[in-house]
Amino acid sequence: MGDTPQHKIHLDESEMPTTWYNVIPDLPAPPPPPLHPGTHEPVGPDDLAPLFPMALIEQEVSMDRYIDIPGEVLDVYRVWRPSPLFRATRLEQELDTPARIYYKYEGVSPAGSHKPNTSVPQAYYNHAEGITRLTTETGAGQWGSALAYATAQYGMECEVWQVAASYRSKPYRRTMMEVWGATVHPSPSEVTDFGRQLLAENPDHHGSLGIAISEAVAACVADPAARYALGSVLNHVLLHQTVIGEEALLQLAKVGETPDVLVGCTGGGSNFGGLAFPFLREKMAGKMDPTIRCVEPAACPSLTKGEYRYDFGDTAGMTPLMKMHTLGHGFIPEPIHAGGLRYHGMSPLVSHIYELGLAEAISIPQRECFSGALTFARTEGIIPAPEPTHAIAAAIREALACRESGEEKVILTALCGHGHLDLAAYEGYLQDEMVDYDLPQDQIDEAMAAVPVLN
Ligand SMILES: *Cc1c(COP(=O)(O)O)cnc(C)c1O
Repeated sequence: MGDTPQHKIHLDESEMPTTWYNVIPDLPAPPPPPLHPGTHEPVGPDDLAPLFPMALIEQEVSMDRYIDIPGEVLDVYRVWRPSPLFRATRLEQELDTPARIYYKYEGVSPAGSHKPNTSVPQAYYNHAEGITRLTTETGAGQWGSALAYATAQYGMECEVWQVAASYRSKPYRRTMMEVWGATVHPSPSEVTDFGRQLLAENPDHHGSLGIAISEAVAACVADPAARYALGSVLNHVLLHQTVIGEEALLQLAKVGETPDVLVGCTGGGSNFGGLAFPFLREKMAGKMDPTIRCVEPAACPSLTKGEYRYDFGDTAGMTPLMKMHTLGHGFIPEPIHAGGLRYHGMSPLVSHIYELGLAEAISIPQRECFSGALTFARTEGIIPAPEPTHAIAAAIREALACRESGEEKVILTALCGHGHLDLAAYEGYLQDEMVDYDLPQDQIDEAMAAVPVLN
């Protein structure tokens, strides 16, 4: 390191990775396969064909370590990629820490998060196979807006079920999707049988991601020209996100650094996997030895308090059964502000890596996260989305521990989105109206009781 640390580490367009990295062939054991919800046999390509295009089904089960990024996708990536890697020098000063903190900033994409890294290839492959309409769900609105942006690039229709609580509290996210040409329904909606059934029981239903997935899948299955797109959890989604970690590796190499600690927020696991997997490859190859840590909300702690079991990805039980850390497919988390982290399950691949002991996990309550985010915004300038405030809070914990121990650790995280459309959450925090939620064990037990028991 020189005397004046470089604050922003660029990568030339010509240095952009042209392949995605598939971590599965490098793992000591493959993750358990998804199972058919009826037969409990491993699902085959034919089972998934009504939902996804063949190219993505192949990526889902691929054993190739590297997969070429199509030129047409690279062209769209270049709108905002390579994304910047920053060293948080001002935050370090504020914390008076000997640690060096780096963050990869994904808020520079048109939708303001890492999600377009996968929405663009997903739209591309569907379009290439003649699909004209995509259905999906969205929680905070980040994924819905990323898919709306991507489908607009390929002239496709996009229909989004947005969790009712966020549909009502985040009108600008909805407007963003509509600007890009998408149709948006609050979920539960009057458009599907499952939605109508839930609304009949409770007209003010707040909805959940699991319910919105059920509705989007039902709408897709009813239309042969439609496919369904998922913004997290699945292997091909995490695969597409590895551009984050591949770029970060190159950027850190430019300043001669290797991480000692890597922290990432986990909702379904995609920004975490995207950042972490290329570093995990280097770790498994013995080239570096970072501690890799998932950070989840205390109100929705699927890794730290959930069980590693086969469970459904949605509330109605329409998706294949996936072996993952889960709080139960019927679990409805408290309305914390990090809507993108309110999912009952965790990516099967991240769950598997956690079970293998290759990653650890902690949970943090939201007030500590927003407190950290204010310190971050007042020093680094960028206002984080509520989800990565968890990663920032964890990075700050680590940096403060270094202040105590005197260790000069290199900390790496992803600032996976900006919070410009989440200012209501910040307002609540500033006015001291934000509360932390406890998750009592009996609430978990209740939801877990409905999870199928497989032998
Ligand atoms: C969707 C989202 C998340 C949660 O999803 P992961 O798959 O866990 O990354 C986190 N942060 C932001 C900004 C998001 O949009």
